[in-house]
Amino acid sequence: MALTTTQPKVAGLIPVSMIDWEGKVSAIIFLAGCNLRCPYCHNPELINPKTADCVPWDRIKGQLDKKKRWLDGIVITGGEPTANKDLEGLIAELRSADFKIKLDTNGTKPNVIEDLVKKNVIDYFAVDVKSAFHKYDKACGIVGQSEQVKESIDLIANSKIDHEFRTTVVPGYTASEDIVEVAKYLADRGASRYVLQQFLPKEVLEKNLESVQPYPATLLTQIAEECSKFLPTKTRGCG
Ligand code: SF4
Repeated sequence: MALTTTQPKVAGLIPVSMIDWEGKVSAIIFLAGCNLRCPYCHNPELINPKTADCVPWDRIKGQLDKKKRWLDGIVITGGEPTANKDLEGLIAELRSADFKIKLDTNGTKPNVIEDLVKKNVIDYFAVDVKSAFHKYDKACGIVGQSEQVKESIDLIANSKIDHEFRTTVVPGYTASEDIVEVAKYLADRGASRYVLQQFLPKEVLEKNLESVQPYPATLLTQIAEECSKFLPTKTRGCG
């Protein structure tokens, strides 16, 4: 495999994962840098690209080369990949090496999403919808992001590209009625599926959230059932 033309700021690699792209064996590339400050972020060390530890690209390439025959594709995550200027070059290189690509995104850069959709270079989008839109500023830690996310939802839901929208369910940030509101919104926009992710109170950006008890799995299941009246919905991370 020849991956040679770019030096992306990669903060980490999981060479083989069975759980990050459903039904596929994937490698996970973590890009440094994020434009949001979600209080419950599990990768706070990746938020600031200036302080994130980065792995030399040659080392990443070497590991991908070694595992290529077992891999169905690559998950690009972060941080926020669409806030990373290296994303386009990275995708081009990975595609030239015949990898399929799943992109995890917070959806706040619809111009980048639009470009990727037009070029048809992503096989699967996983888009965070942090909470109901009237609570977005609090849920993502930065004001004024919800309109951009709505734009990205439209772009992806109206594309022919496989996708999911997902919400990490955090007490104090996402009440059950917020989640159902998001489900209705997504269904109205033509989204394919919705995933409710369980919150893990470990190593998060706002340390006071580490003492917050996640909702019981049974409650998440009930909320997912309610959301399923609008679009297919499931839970993740509930054990
Ligand atoms: S959880 Fe929020 S702050 Fe953390 S990487 Fe994702 S979008 Fe950025």
